Amino acid sequence: MSTVCAIATPPAAGGISVIRISGEKAAEIADKVFRTASGSPVTELKGYRAAYGKIYDGEERLDDGVVLMFRAPHSYTGEDVAEISCHGGIYVTRRVLAACIKAGAEPAGAGEFTKRALLNGKMSLTQAEAVTDIINAQSGQLLSCSNSQREGALYRRAEAIADMIMEVSAQISAWIDYPEDDTPVVTEDWLREKLSAVKAEFSALLSGYDKGRLIREGISCAIVGKPNVGKSTLMNLLSGEERSIVSDIAGTTRDIVEETISIGDVVLKVADCAGIRETDDAIEKIGVEIMLKKLNNADLVLAVFDSSRPLEEDDMTLIEQLSGKLVIPVVNKCDLQLTLDTVTLENKLGRAVYISARLDKTADILSDEIKSRLSLDKLDMQAGVLANERQRSCMLRAADAVNEAINAVELGLTPDAVGVMLEQALDAVYELSGRKASEEVISEVFKRFCVGK
Ligand code: GDP
Repeated sequence: MSTVCAIATPPAAGGISVIRISGEKAAEIADKVFRTASGSPVTELKGYRAAYGKIYDGEERLDDGVVLMFRAPHSYTGEDVAEISCHGGIYVTRRVLAACIKAGAEPAGAGEFTKRALLNGKMSLTQAEAVTDIINAQSGQLLSCSNSQREGALYRRAEAIADMIMEVSAQISAWIDYPEDDTPVVTEDWLREKLSAVKAEFSALLSGYDKGRLIREGISCAIVGKPNVGKSTLMNLLSGEERSIVSDIAGTTRDIVEETISIGDVVLKVADCAGIRETDDAIEKIGVEIMLKKLNNADLVLAVFDSSRPLEEDDMTLIEQLSGKLVIPVVNKCDLQLTLDTVTLENKLGRAVYISARLDKTADILSDEIKSRLSLDKLDMQAGVLANERQRSCMLRAADAVNEAINAVELGLTPDAVGVMLEQALDAVYELSGRKASEEVISEVFKRFCVGK
């Protein structure tokens, strides 16, 4: 395999940049661009050893820095790897990269280092996918989930399911091939019991996917309420910035302000919407229409009410529009005298959360409430979860095949027909774990990586 190189740090000015070289000739190529201060060649550096020195392009001195050597198989890729750290300027970093290419390295493609790690058996496909999840993690929960995936949680879970399927397949084959032997008879009841257990595993993983999606991609959340109840103040508190226009004049939030906000473990994609009310004002009307659309697409609605005002017609209209949606009624301005009919409100929309958007601790109160209402606090993200659409579609295919196998049992088809469907299920599970993933599947996965990872 060729020796490749790429800039592993972001393409921006910073303290340090790292140029990574991986392959058989990593040390040799690093030695052509890096002269150690001690004078000993980079090729003599053992694994996990670093040396200070100067970086050259031919005879032109580019920078000084450090080279760190990893020796196969004890490196990220499983190959010899040299990492050259230089000053974090965009130009100097590109020059060091160009010097490495001139010295014989090929430019690495997107995700090539991780792909090599996969091909060299350093990690499974689901573990490689977890690397991008770690890079993209926006919350503590997501980071710890991605770390578990990186350590093989999903891989192990998929392999355990594959073992369950294999056990059934093996019994069926033995029974077909050697019916006269002592192999246990494959009865309908036995098949039913075994396949139901496999189906239960699939169901658990698939239902966890939707909840996991909320944690991974963020919960799309609409903040609605009649004018002046404190939506913008709440939005500002959550985002920690003065973004929405706060004023005492009803109807000042005319644009939908949208933002991704991390509060504790929860990532919210929040749309602060124009107040819901019948209006003749053309601009505000557009806002109201966009808001209604947002409402329909939201995973969660925070419906804000003013504790110091009675329930009015606008509130009742809003309540009607919220039917069938996942809503948390938010009673705001609890620092003021309570006038709101909270009994009627809670009868209509369920248990409310009582806050004051002017107080800092409100963000944590809301985040806990959101987690508990969406049952995100019960989700065991460390147990191995489906983390992306590819994994989910493999699991769906496997689940379909097992369902067909169960139907075949119910219809009284021969065990070999059941066996054929189980083979399909097994293939899909192995594609998920990467054990039998085709070159196309692997290429598709690494397309989503950045160059240098
Ligand atoms: P919006 O129209 O729903 O976006 O409401 P705003 O966020 O613009 O708030 C309207 C008014 O209520 C502003 O004067 C805010 O300062 C005030 N307000 C918002 N939240 C609270 C709160 O918790 N307590 C009190 N006392 N006033 C609040």
